[in-house]
Amino acid sequence: TAYWANKDVAERTEFDHAAYPLWHGQSKMRQRLDRSDPTHLLVRGDGCWVEDIAGRRYLDARSGACNMALGYSRVDIVDAMAKQAAELPFSCVIRYDQPALTTVRYAAELVAAAPPGLTRVRFTHMGSASVENALHMSRLYHLNAGQPERTWIISLRYSFHGSTYLTLAASGDDFVEKVVPVPPPHLARTPVPAFADCPGCTGDPTKTGDCTAALRATVDGIGAGQVAAFIVEPMMEGPVQPMTRHFLESVRDLARKLGFLVIYDEVTTGFGRLGALFGATHFGVSPDILCSAKGITAGYAPLGAVLVAEHVYQAFDQETGIHFPNGSSSDGHPVSCAAASVALRAMYAENVFENARERGAQAVAGLREGLADNPAVGPIRGVGLLFGFELLQLDGAPSVYETTRRIQAACMELGVLVQHGGEYIVIYPPLVIDERETEILVDRVVRGIGSVTR
Ligand code: PMP
Repeated sequence: TAYWANKDVAERTEFDHAAYPLWHGQSKMRQRLDRSDPTHLLVRGDGCWVEDIAGRRYLDARSGACNMALGYSRVDIVDAMAKQAAELPFSCVIRYDQPALTTVRYAAELVAAAPPGLTRVRFTHMGSASVENALHMSRLYHLNAGQPERTWIISLRYSFHGSTYLTLAASGDDFVEKVVPVPPPHLARTPVPAFADCPGCTGDPTKTGDCTAALRATVDGIGAGQVAAFIVEPMMEGPVQPMTRHFLESVRDLARKLGFLVIYDEVTTGFGRLGALFGATHFGVSPDILCSAKGITAGYAPLGAVLVAEHVYQAFDQETGIHFPNGSSSDGHPVSCAAASVALRAMYAENVFENARERGAQAVAGLREGLADNPAVGPIRGVGLLFGFELLQLDGAPSVYETTRRIQAACMELGVLVQHGGEYIVIYPPLVIDERETEILVDRVVRGIGSVTR
């Protein structure tokens, strides 16, 4: 530690790259090679703040990776994890019928809080695995139901569903074609719905559009009898694009009529992010399968959950059918479930949902005011504590990608961590952020953007 602490950022970055074997996730290799993304080592956190090895503090407006829902230094969660680790650190759920009591109990607590109609839960250990389970499950559901030809999965363009081969291939971003050179079969993408033209979405009878038209065309193009499922995030993080209640209701009705399943990917939106426990709760529309992870343990341990409707479960709960083969050794880990149980109770006890709605509204209003006259900033959108905007390409300016990268770096210099997702700046602080911290967040983000775009 002393060795790292006595270096400046440039030396630390050099040391990290040259001497340490850690391959930093999805970092851009060019910026790693030319050392333009400095290494900041974080050493501790409290509340909504993290501190680096040089003692600088940052407001973490990306909640770790959208998972530190209740902030850092939660002694109640840490105590529950320590107790579980001391008593029974592990028992395997997927292979044997001797699950840990903590895992069984948490399953009941979670289902009791789940959106209506979701009666069973499988645990995983991460978001990608939750979505992988759901996609696989939707195809096997139809196989068990005597419709083996229902194999197609439809997703939205610009969606993101995970980093396993199937979930990445099912994601809708352009880069996917490059990184999945041999895509698994029977995946289709459909355009993001045109909410602005749809009278059901806007409540404006002079509008003439239909937000499910594109999805219906995609289903028809495949053949309705061959579609297994449509997967959708209640709010897409990258394009900061929420769905509408009308769209989700229309999708549910269409799916019932044509016989395919609806999957919500709530890895980001679940556990309070939109100001309700789930996006399904916020919009008041339940899917057949709901995937979650991230905030489920408030980030203190890895865990994912796949909530399913009873009819989906029943298709597997029979002597003749295929059982469900997905599952990993650490799924439903008791230490993670102990953390998740305390986190779920705390979310209700501390009413973080109302806080997310109020602080989200405060932040969006503040950003709109502070950035109103900045031509590089697109419309600011948000639901609860998930908000952000698109950067617009101005004549003579660097690429939008480069601009968002610089904004992220400028905000970090000012002591706030935000997410640059290609053309977007996306912000999602812990759900426990207070009014004063929200003011600090808005002030620093407005200044950070101003320093790069003017
Ligand atoms: N789905 C969505 C919507 C996500 O945002 C993510 C993670 N960013 C995933 C799935 C994958 O989750 P994980 O990183 O936990 O595997």
